[in-house]
Amino acid sequence: MEKERREKPEFHTPVYEMALRQFDIAAARLNLDPNVAQRLRSPKRALIVSVPIRMDDGSIRVFEGYRVQHTMVLGPAKGGTRYHPDVNLGEVSALAMWMSWKCALIGLPLGGSKGGIRCNPKEMSRGELQRLTRRYTTEIFPLIGPERDIPGPDVGTDGQTMSWLMDTYSMQVGYTVPGIATGKPVNIGGSLGRIEATGRGVVYTAIEAAKRLNIDLSSSTAVIQGFGNVGYVAAKILHEMGCKVIAVSNSGGGVYNENGLDISRLYEFSKENPILSESKLGGEITNKELLELKCDILIPAALSAQIHENNAKNVKCKILAEGANGPTTPEADKILSEKGVFIIPDILANSGGVTVSYFEWVQDLQNFFWKEKEINEKLRDILVSAFESVMTLVKREKVDHRTAALMMGIKKITDAMLVRGLYP
Ligand code: NAD
Repeated sequence: MEKERREKPEFHTPVYEMALRQFDIAAARLNLDPNVAQRLRSPKRALIVSVPIRMDDGSIRVFEGYRVQHTMVLGPAKGGTRYHPDVNLGEVSALAMWMSWKCALIGLPLGGSKGGIRCNPKEMSRGELQRLTRRYTTEIFPLIGPERDIPGPDVGTDGQTMSWLMDTYSMQVGYTVPGIATGKPVNIGGSLGRIEATGRGVVYTAIEAAKRLNIDLSSSTAVIQGFGNVGYVAAKILHEMGCKVIAVSNSGGGVYNENGLDISRLYEFSKENPILSESKLGGEITNKELLELKCDILIPAALSAQIHENNAKNVKCKILAEGANGPTTPEADKILSEKGVFIIPDILANSGGVTVSYFEWVQDLQNFFWKEKEINEKLRDILVSAFESVMTLVKREKVDHRTAALMMGIKKITDAMLVRGLYP
């Protein structure tokens, strides 16, 4: 029993195993020092908290929350906060690990972390969500701070959630600390361009991939799973560029129109009704069918493990731009690579979010705010340069895109670990 526990710690869930398998492939290619690899296969710290709150009907409910820090060797940890019924320690730990590789890959002086609460925010009132966020912030208080670990939004959380988190932290310390969270509204220290940053970054990397495949984006087709922050912004920018977004979906199913969807009308409709097919802007399509549509660019922008060994052979896109974290399993990776799909791995494709979160944190620490044009230009420079470095490594090492991206991120972290040395 003790041996089993040591071999399979509490955070070893299927999503964590997936993150580990990706790590092991890249670590083997890097000939990584086994002592360093052993450390990086587990989080640095993981905190599980009970979050009791008073519900609107007067009853008390206790939710389970998490904050996991994977590495802090390059700087304070950075990671989003997920409110979803499937949140668990393994998923949060995997997401924290991916954040480490992502921050290092694009050259940010940050480590990787993630947090979340197992709850269904769609079934909770604004008051309940506010009490949940404030109590959760208080429970994870020992781990977070602008110099330690900076939360941001993720699935099921937004600028309002980050405002409550920032306010709660500030009340605890007695003064306003804008740098404790990113993804805040601009009037309390948020950055211009942050809301759009992840979706915008997905498009910037898709533009680079399209150039390499000689695809003219203004006459291309795109399919997007997830119509939240990442999916909607990517759809909007691609639509503005002339690309036909032929299908999008959310947890209520999808809508398909071979002539291209009117994204702004669909977005307005989705604010009132989550069943996108009822918008009459196109026909109904299931999430399963959507992933198998023929298109130039497929953007999974919802949850992890959506493209797996059972559907990968039916995927017919030319470019897979991973807006979501971990949308493709290692088995599917292999199938897609054999089919010649150009994969832009998640830690590169969706890194625009953490890049502008980093800009937000820097602006907050300096109390000096930048123009949106400057932010988008800096974002593009960082992403295009990371994209080119990954492609150079692909060629030099003859590895697939994901392995190259992971190798770059992991190498930067392990180099820092080795030069810092082992404490004590
Ligand atoms: P969000 O909550 O704004 O949107 C999520 C969307 O996915 C919603 O439209 C929801 O209806 C849809 N969805 C949920 N379950 C689904 C299912 N089974 N099938 C189809 N659609 C489903 O979240 P977001 O911030 O847009 O994040 C989406 C993904 O992008 C996540 O994997 C997240 O980790 C990743 N990501 C987000 C950011 C960011 O800045 N927001 C940054 C990097 C990565």
